[in-house]
Amino acid sequence: MSVKFAQKLARMPHYTAGLDIDAAREKYELQDVVKLASNESPFPPAQAVRDVIADGLKDLNRYPEAGAGSLRRALADHYDLPVGQVTVGNGSCEILLAAAEALIELGTEIVYAWPSFSIYPQMAALADALPTTVPLTDEHVHDLDAIVSATNKRTRLLVICNPNNPTGTYLPSEEISNLLEQVPEDVCVILDEAYIDFQTVEDPDTSLDLLSKYPNLAILRTFSKIYGLAGLRVGYALCSVEFRRAVDAVRQPFSVNRLAQAAAVEALKHQDDVTRRVEQNAVERLWVEEQLGKLGLESPPSQANFSWIDLGTNDEGSVVEGLARKGVIVRPGKAIGADGGIRVTYGTRSENERFIEALQSVINE
Ligand SMILES: *Cc1c(COP(=O)(O)O)cnc(C)c1O
Repeated sequence: MSVKFAQKLARMPHYTAGLDIDAAREKYELQDVVKLASNESPFPPAQAVRDVIADGLKDLNRYPEAGAGSLRRALADHYDLPVGQVTVGNGSCEILLAAAEALIELGTEIVYAWPSFSIYPQMAALADALPTTVPLTDEHVHDLDAIVSATNKRTRLLVICNPNNPTGTYLPSEEISNLLEQVPEDVCVILDEAYIDFQTVEDPDTSLDLLSKYPNLAILRTFSKIYGLAGLRVGYALCSVEFRRAVDAVRQPFSVNRLAQAAAVEALKHQDDVTRRVEQNAVERLWVEEQLGKLGLESPPSQANFSWIDLGTNDEGSVVEGLARKGVIVRPGKAIGADGGIRVTYGTRSENERFIEALQSVINE
C-alpha cells in the first residue's frame, strides 16, 4: 500500500517550466543562449539595490521583519494608501494562491478568461472550487460582458489579468470600472497587474482610484517584471483591509525573505530606473512588432513586455525546437493553454535581433 494523497492532487494542473539557460546550453551544445520565455527583465537590478542585498547578508541569522512593516510602509507611501491596505507575498503568485484558499471552496466558483495566466487553474484546483473560463475575444482581449454573464450566485472570485498574459492585450481602466459596476459587491475581483507599468495607454496608477469606490477590488502587482527582481520573489496587493487580513491568515508569517524585503524597499526609491525600463521596453516592443509584421506573422498589439505570436500554418513544436537549436528559448503556447503560437519576451536589442533572425530562418526552413 502506498501513501494516500488528497484527491485534489489529481486535479492540480501540471506547470511545465520553460528550459533554463544552462539546461538549453547543455541540451543543444550551445555557448550562448538567450532566454525570452519568462517575461523577465533583460536588465540586472540597479547597483543600489544590489548593494542593499549584499549588505543584508550579514543579518541572515535573523528572521525577516514580522509583518514586512518597512516594505508595506514604503509601498503605502508610494501609492498614498493606508498601510493596512497593503500586503506583500513571496511573489504575487503567493497572494493569488492565498486568495484562492481564503475565498473559494467546494461549491463555489472562480471565473477567469482563457488563455490567461497559468496559476489561475491551480487556484481552483487547490481550493476544490469550480473554474469557469471565459474565452478571450477573437482580438485576444478579455470579454468583460461574458465575464459578467458567467458570474452567478456561487461565484466568489473573478480574476482579470491586465495586460493579459500570454496575449499582451490591455483594457483601459475605464472598462475595468464598468466591470466593477456590474459585479455584485460580495464577489471579490482580483486585478492582476503584473505588467501594468509596461503599458503606455494611461498612467499605470489610474486603476488605483477604483480601490476607494469598490472595496471588493484587490490589485496585485509584483517586483518580478518591471523592477527586474524575479529571482527574489516579491509581490504585493493593494486591497481592502479585509482582503489583506484574509490572505495573511492562510499564510506563514515570514513568506517574504529578508533580502527580498530590503531590495524591494530600495528598488521603490529608483523610479527613474523604472521610467527608463518602461521606455526601453516600449522601443523594443515597437521594433519586434514591426519585424513580426514584415515576417507576415500576426500578433495582437501588446502593452506588456512580450508578444503573443500566432504561428498560422507553422507547426508550434517545430518552431519552438528550431529556435532553441539556434539558442533562443521562447514559451510554447502548448505549455500555457494556447496551442498554435509562442510567447516571446522582449530582451535587449541584440537579443531581439537574434530572435527575429532565428524565427525568420525557422519559418522558412
Ligand atoms: C509574472 C506574473 C505574475 C507575478 O509573479 P510573481 O509571483 O510576482 O513573480 C503575476 N501574474 C501574472 C499574470 C504574471 O505573468
